Amino acid sequence: MSAVAYVNGRICSPQDATISVFDHGFLYGEGVYEVLRTYGGELFLVDRHFRRLRASASMITLDVGMADSALEGIVVETMAAQRAAAGAAAQGHEILARVLVTRGIGEMNYDPSKSPHPSLVVIVKPLVPLPASTYERGVAVALVSVVRNHPASVDPRIKSNNLLNNVLAMQEALRRGPYFEAILRNFRGELSECSQSNLFLVTDGTVRTPALDAGLLAGITREFVEEVAVDTGIPTVDAVLRDDDLFGADEAFLTSTSKEIVPIVRVDDRVIGGGRPGPITLRLLDAYRRTARAVAGRR
Ligand code: PMP
Repeated sequence: MSAVAYVNGRICSPQDATISVFDHGFLYGEGVYEVLRTYGGELFLVDRHFRRLRASASMITLDVGMADSALEGIVVETMAAQRAAAGAAAQGHEILARVLVTRGIGEMNYDPSKSPHPSLVVIVKPLVPLPASTYERGVAVALVSVVRNHPASVDPRIKSNNLLNNVLAMQEALRRGPYFEAILRNFRGELSECSQSNLFLVTDGTVRTPALDAGLLAGITREFVEEVAVDTGIPTVDAVLRDDDLFGADEAFLTSTSKEIVPIVRVDDRVIGGGRPGPITLRLLDAYRRTARAVAGRR
């Protein structure tokens, strides 16, 4: 894996990319993150990712500690170091950049004023695309019993390094079988999102996704898919969605920065729609990719 990391001012190889055990990111999971990707080597929707990073940080009373331009400069510098380290293997490859801001080192207590210097880590690694068959045939996912965090607990809108609940959801899915993702319900029993992606259903030609107040991450792909759908003339709505909506849907798909739009064709042992990627999902995937390539690198 030709990854390169920036750790608090230093660009390092994976072996040297270390952080103190006294960092509250390690001790308490006290930090936030973003995952960005490139299209054609250009960062995609960087402004939206940085806006969400700041929103997540402010929800845990954390200051990112630098302007967006400085942060982007560090990401671009780390990308250049990764390209240099990967050599010829980097040719034509897209990358993923994980940007993490943690509380930093401080006293072993929860008082933020005792840890005034946030840590900044940027990990850049090649984006290994999912096999074409994933998009052509679709995936099976599990509807798990782990409940998405209550918004009055660790609010799902915070893109937090504290991912244990998501990990437990995916572990449950993997215990049941070789599932691609885990769908979680919220505390009211409504569908919320997946462990690492947002959920969409298509019914009677309308694309529906759980509304933000179901308690979920405001995915940047989710938002972009909704914009692309409008441009493509496909109606979209944010809605309250339940198990019956899922099992009765004509099509379903999940979205994330790295995975784009992945068709869901089975939930546990129940087939969705026709058991193959639906026409609206495939139209959206095509339009999404074309638009993403066109806008990457633009401000
Ligand atoms: N929900 C969760 C819980 C996630 O972890 C992710 C991926 N980071 C997403 C949704 C998708 O977000 P995005 O489209 O911004 O990558």
